Amino acid sequence: MAEAVQKQAAEPQRKTGRPFALDSLFAPLTTLPGIGPKNGKLLEKLVGGPKLLDVLWHKPLDIVDRRFRPTIKDAPHGHIATLTVTVEKHTPNTRRNIPYRVRCHDQTGALDLVFFNAHKDYLEKQLPVGATVIVSGRVDHYQGRAQIVHPDAMGTPEEIDEIAVVEPVYPLTQGLTNKPVRKAVLAALEKAPALPEWQDTAWLAKNHWPTWQEALQTLHHPPGLNGISPEHPARMRLAYDELLANQLTLALVRHHSRRQSGRSLEGNGKLRQALLNVLPFTLTGAQERSLKDIYADMKDPTRMLRLLQGDVGSGKTVVAALSMLNAVECGTQAALMAPTEILARQHAESLRPWLEAAGVRYIVLTGRDKGKAREVLLQQIANGAAQIVIGTHALFQEGVEFHDLGFAVIDEQHRFGVHQRLQLSSKSKATDVLVMTATPIPRTLTLTAYGDMDVSRLDEKPPGRKPIETLLLAHDKAEDLVEKLVKQTQAGARVYWVCPLVEESEVLDLAAATARYEILQARFGETVGLIHGRLKPDEKDAVMQKFAKGELSVLVATTVIEVGVNVPEATIMVIEHAERFGLAQLHQLRGRVGRGGDKSFCFLIYAAPLAETAKERLSTMRETEDGFLIAEKDLKLRGSGEILGTRQSGLVQFRLADLAFHGELLAAARDDARLIIEKDVELQSIRGDALRHLLYLFERDQAIAYLRSG
Ligand code: ADP
Ligand code: MG
Repeated sequence: MAEAVQKQAAEPQRKTGRPFALDSLFAPLTTLPGIGPKNGKLLEKLVGGPKLLDVLWHKPLDIVDRRFRPTIKDAPHGHIATLTVTVEKHTPNTRRNIPYRVRCHDQTGALDLVFFNAHKDYLEKQLPVGATVIVSGRVDHYQGRAQIVHPDAMGTPEEIDEIAVVEPVYPLTQGLTNKPVRKAVLAALEKAPALPEWQDTAWLAKNHWPTWQEALQTLHHPPGLNGISPEHPARMRLAYDELLANQLTLALVRHHSRRQSGRSLEGNGKLRQALLNVLPFTLTGAQERSLKDIYADMKDPTRMLRLLQGDVGSGKTVVAALSMLNAVECGTQAALMAPTEILARQHAESLRPWLEAAGVRYIVLTGRDKGKAREVLLQQIANGAAQIVIGTHALFQEGVEFHDLGFAVIDEQHRFGVHQRLQLSSKSKATDVLVMTATPIPRTLTLTAYGDMDVSRLDEKPPGRKPIETLLLAHDKAEDLVEKLVKQTQAGARVYWVCPLVEESEVLDLAAATARYEILQARFGETVGLIHGRLKPDEKDAVMQKFAKGELSVLVATTVIEVGVNVPEATIMVIEHAERFGLAQLHQLRGRVGRGGDKSFCFLIYAAPLAETAKERLSTMRETEDGFLIAEKDLKLRGSGEILGTRQSGLVQFRLADLAFHGELLAAARDDARLIIEKDVELQSIRGDALRHLLYLFERDQAIAYLRSG
């Protein structure tokens, strides 16, 4: 949902007053030469967006250095070289699997150009006999003769300056080679305007960073191998731009919410005591500490905005409940928002005994409540009869009027977004806000997702948890596993079987899960269920309920399914193609089991051969259950450029910055943003105006909406 909101906000551009200077950067990809509707789609998918700017942000990941221009005799075996040669004769192929050869020479020796599947007409035109030509490619030696198989570039001597360069190599996708991508990039570069400088000039000078326009030029004309290093000044500059846009947005949000005065909430403790009286356990030290932070924030008259970070199962719910009761003790309403209907209902279910013990009137409101019933609920919210309201994030988008909302808990689960917080702060006046997340994020990432928010961590698991045994399993052994599971389920075990996202396509994704479901059905019969994102909410609920009740013993799920659901009796988690998942996501999925008193297992099924980082991810999973450790490791591995799986994890995605390298820049950007807010919160100065360009560049339109509303 966070993504949907973001898209909405990004759409109507002109209305938001985007500076005209940026227009060319927001032009569609099809305005580039050689890019039509068809490869335009491919390019869009490749670069991750539909506009010119997205192409400019497509970073090369390697280079080919064509500056080396030896004679034929001196061209070393296996190296890329650019040679000036004279064409001697063509030897077309006589049979299909024999190559077409073009013999060339210079004053030091002979060189064959070798082509498979050659087009004779084309080669005769490119390489006329007697002409001097430039060819570039990897030289090798075959039966004592120098040759280049399929030269990468061929041209006339006048074209030497275009050929003998450091050529960037881009990440590619099926159907797009480096050549058209390069061509698109160069054309986009020509349209990249000089923009007003938004960075502090002293800071730029100190770091020896170029202007934005120069930095883009260097990005795509790397001077050598160092040009593709994340530490190159041009890359640092661009990364810093992105981080500053991120931090400035968060700082603006933060400033805005702080400026609205809060209220002091300090209850008499009666309701909380009633809850504690029926609690079947004692709070952990981490829960006590977090509550102390929260109560102090609530008591403080400025507006509270705190993040409660805690792994799945760390016990956030009771912390949320006690904090809400504190607000209710003060006579205000409290709200708890979950990202999905299922989770909202599940929260209500867990809270029920506690809220009933405290004698608090609460209601559940989701998108599913319609008509008369909904009217009644809305009325209870409006007149204050409902002291606690549990619902989805949509609570704040559907014209719900509270009588007096003092405190709101936003359960973001694994999705991060300032969007709900924005909506919340515009809807309610003095509401204290607690954001809960189940992803233990490293410090640096907390900063990117939440800026300068206050943080409490539940870094201590409730006692009595049995460790989860994690096992790796090659795909061809999956059959044996199924046999074992059949026995286990007959003895009462409940199993999650997760199928991965296939190339981020929901359709393929569903196909894979459906296929698995059918296979398992043959073994488990009626006791296997399937849940996926295409099901209607009540259909999802129905399947989930059956699994929770034990009518189903195996639940096949796509990753689209909300993993926040709590079924303590489930003790086995199977993750298929585990190598495709990010660490954070594997960790979240595994957290679905190990919630009851019984020993749990997690089987990570992988398809060999494993890439190096995938191997590391899986062994990390086997070695530890510590979410914070896993998160740190995830950040490190992610730095090495593997992207699959991170989008699903919901973390802030950077295009230019790589936090494994640019973590320190992030702290600088935070301080910079803080200063900007202090000095020029409306962005009215000359630098302020330039910074507006920056915010639009990164489509931080929400932040800009703040500036306009004043
Ligand atoms: P989270 O929302 O952080 O994933 P929950 O709040 O759902 O975790 O808690 C997971 C389980 O642990 C629940 O069954 C809850 O009742 C239980 N629990 C919470 N705190 C404690 C504690 N201090 N001691 C024992 N069990 C606890
Ligand atoms: Mg929870």
